[in-house]
Amino acid sequence: MRYYSLNRRAEPADFRAATVAGQAPDGGLYFPETIPRFPTGFVEQLPHLTAAEVAYAVLQPYVGNAIPAPELRAICAEALDFPLPVVPVTERISALELFHGPTLAFKDVGARFMSRCLGYFSRHETRSVTVLVATSGDTGGAVASGFLGVEGVEVVILYPAGRVSPVQEQQLTALGQNVTALEVQGNFDDCQRLVKQAFRDADLLARRRLTSANSINVARWLPQQVYYCTGVAQALAATGQAPVVAVPSGNFGNLCAGLLAYVSGLPVRHFVAACNANAAVPAYLTTGQYAARPAVATLSNAMDVGDPSNFGRILELFRHEHPAIRALLTGYSVSDEETSATIQRVYQHAGYLLDPHGAVAFFALEAYLRQHPEQPGIFLETAHPVKFPAAVEPATGQPVPVPTTLRELLGQPKRSILLAPEYEALRSYLLAAG
Ligand SMILES: *Cc1c(COP(=O)(O)O)cnc(C)c1O
Repeated sequence: MRYYSLNRRAEPADFRAATVAGQAPDGGLYFPETIPRFPTGFVEQLPHLTAAEVAYAVLQPYVGNAIPAPELRAICAEALDFPLPVVPVTERISALELFHGPTLAFKDVGARFMSRCLGYFSRHETRSVTVLVATSGDTGGAVASGFLGVEGVEVVILYPAGRVSPVQEQQLTALGQNVTALEVQGNFDDCQRLVKQAFRDADLLARRRLTSANSINVARWLPQQVYYCTGVAQALAATGQAPVVAVPSGNFGNLCAGLLAYVSGLPVRHFVAACNANAAVPAYLTTGQYAARPAVATLSNAMDVGDPSNFGRILELFRHEHPAIRALLTGYSVSDEETSATIQRVYQHAGYLLDPHGAVAFFALEAYLRQHPEQPGIFLETAHPVKFPAAVEPATGQPVPVPTTLRELLGQPKRSILLAPEYEALRSYLLAAG
């Protein structure tokens, strides 16, 4: 498989080159030259496959001969070594729980897959590679945990000061070893801008081997298709119908992976793009006009993105045809008040504790299904509620029990380096650290 740059001013790359570079040299996102179709009978087979087997089948055409079959199978098995259950919440709505991984968030799968691919590609390198990543919350923890202790790899994480939850911050700053957290005095868009600028800095790139671990990296983006395959298979088995799938979205990597699986042949009735107040994509879906906006802080802070990186991939997938995108995808913008009320209502009426991201998706899915009363739906529950106590506890009136895996980390000291939201500051840090 070859990948071209969406800016179309760079050479195409294979899976290895695209993964190691993260972003094309012209600043564009990599996109596969063809979208493979699932083999005949694949959907019927899905209920009998493990998530790791699904991952291998889905990803092999994208990886091509960059990783031999036995190694790719092993990578898939390690990346997907936890369950992805579909749990009924109401009569027509089920949660696809993606928070059973080591950092209790769905980004674990992509981060673990990518870190293992990079580890494989760096086996014979002498210079260490620096993974540079901007996070609005969960990415950093998943990436840090995915790479912790991996030899030959340094991880540098930028996060917006005061805009991530205490648990998220702890997951970014308490690991140590090969992981450094830069606490940026700005918002997530500042973090993302600094990282993008570093990848365009030819002089810096000549001196440091940099790679990106954001959802723009193809090795993080593509494995997310597995969620949709296992989720849809379980929904089909339970209801006999292709479900509506609602995805809490920020940078739109996850939703775009679902659309990719759909184009490959996965039966999904409709997609719901569930956003918080950061509604650039829902506005595009309604009007056909896209305008980036400054990010606004909300309860579902992992989705506080004003200018989603993966929106370009969604456009490309549908050849920029607004009617085609609109026919498959409906967008909603959900307020913090609606999010809190949803957490409380679903907890009281169904006994299910949503996290704020899942609550945004639940609310949007309910709204969509009111217009389409005969259809069943699933929403992606992307994080464990314990990661967002400030949003969850007022709704339930009780503390969320802390899973044992987190307890140890919470006792560790925070280690971060404060950084001004200016590119020079990041550049000097990276050069000095080398
Ligand atoms: C990152 C994240 C999202 C948004 O995913 P995108 O792929 O950026 O759209 C949603 N929920 C949680 C908990 C996240 O960490």
